[in-house]
Amino acid sequence: MDKPDWAGPLTEAYERSLGYLTALPDRPVGNTMNWPDLREALGGPLPEGPEDARDVVAKLATAAEPGLVNTPSGRFFGFVVGGAHPAALAADWLATTWDQNACLAALAPSASAVEEVAGEWLVRLFGLPVQTSVGFVTGGQMANFTALAAARHEMLRREGWDVEADGLAGAPRLRVLAGRQRHDSIDRALRFLGLGRNAITPVETDDQGRMRPDALAEALAEGGGPTIVCAQIGGVNTGAFDPVGEICAIAHEAGAWVHVDGAFGLWAAAVPRLRHLTAGVEQADSWATDGHKWLNVPYDSGMVFCAHPEAHRAAMGIRAGYLIHGADGERDAIDYTPDFSRRARGFAVYAAIRTLGRTGIADLVERCCTLAARFAERLAAHDDVEVLNDVSLNQVLVRFLSPDGDHDGHTRAVVDRVQREGTCWMSGTIWQGRAAMRISVSNWSTDQDDVDRSVEAILRCARPDAGDR
Ligand SMILES: *Cc1c(COP(=O)(O)O)cnc(C)c1O
Repeated sequence: MDKPDWAGPLTEAYERSLGYLTALPDRPVGNTMNWPDLREALGGPLPEGPEDARDVVAKLATAAEPGLVNTPSGRFFGFVVGGAHPAALAADWLATTWDQNACLAALAPSASAVEEVAGEWLVRLFGLPVQTSVGFVTGGQMANFTALAAARHEMLRREGWDVEADGLAGAPRLRVLAGRQRHDSIDRALRFLGLGRNAITPVETDDQGRMRPDALAEALAEGGGPTIVCAQIGGVNTGAFDPVGEICAIAHEAGAWVHVDGAFGLWAAAVPRLRHLTAGVEQADSWATDGHKWLNVPYDSGMVFCAHPEAHRAAMGIRAGYLIHGADGERDAIDYTPDFSRRARGFAVYAAIRTLGRTGIADLVERCCTLAARFAERLAAHDDVEVLNDVSLNQVLVRFLSPDGDHDGHTRAVVDRVQREGTCWMSGTIWQGRAAMRISVSNWSTDQDDVDRSVEAILRCARPDAGDR
């Protein structure tokens, strides 16, 4: 066996990465190659024999780049997607280099220690109860899943039912109350948990998509039995926050567990000027958030928090004869996430928190909100553009009015043109039955110039004659 050549492929990857990132501000934000051409560029027969590693990395990068949607760009405003902060990206490279299997303290002591430290920092940053347990998962979906598994355990345990041992057949029926504008990952988590999406009683929401506390009180009174209430802070369309303090008071009065989906909204708790939006959030029983959205950690990165660590561990933990379980005080990540083997994703989170610090995180989140307000203000200044939501966070819903009255069709056409034009990238949605463009400002590198250039591009694409050119 020859000595391994680390330098060749790693140098290629480093140079390609640096080239990619430095050219990012000048690249079209959307992909420039379509699916059939990408398949062709990347395809071919099963490789019969070996090929030089550096060549493979170089050819992969060349073939893949035109098919990248450049989400790390400061002018990417689609869905709710953060960029990768330089320190977090670099720490994530190390996580890959070190290749730690972060399931057990015995197998990955540094990864375990880093997750424990970063977890404690986040608990403090968000103002959650000190005993809160933390799991580092792939994203908001799995954070919601893990939290709801802990909730399922605890609410059935209180009924004398051991769901981990006996499953759900014959168990008391669990009721889940969630706002009509909840994220679909809640429904999906309930499917995975065997509760089924029909376990949900939808609770009415107001014009911004916030759960109405009076409607929650009514819904709680209408049924009984073990109950989970899912609140949401930061809805994907309007960015609106359910009144989480009021929800906790009402739900706890009825003996329910309160889970908070705060995939991006929980970060408002770290910002003095926005913290009022999350008032009372610390009273909940579990929380979900993302690292890859507002903390700007590379994909994938989510965090689950639980105020009842024993319920968290009961739902996720595992004991096996061949495993080496952490000695007293040593953290085994496997007890807090649904994974067995897993990537050491805490390193990137740790690096992001450490580089930004409490004030840097607050500045990042607040800056995004200020820039979202600028988007709204500049677009709404035009007669044929309507902003549909109260822009209280980082999300803006925009509708484009057409002289022919087909505002839905025109709005969709504008979204489509903007995506192809390349200056910036936004996605569309349906809000209260009307088509809208969604603008989400979630990237650490976005500045005022990015917003102004994007506003101009959007307005160009919204001109009645834009389709003809
Ligand atoms: C993004 C999001 C999710 C899903 O998170 P992933 O990280 O994509 O798994 C869930 N809830 C809300 C409110 C979100 O914005």
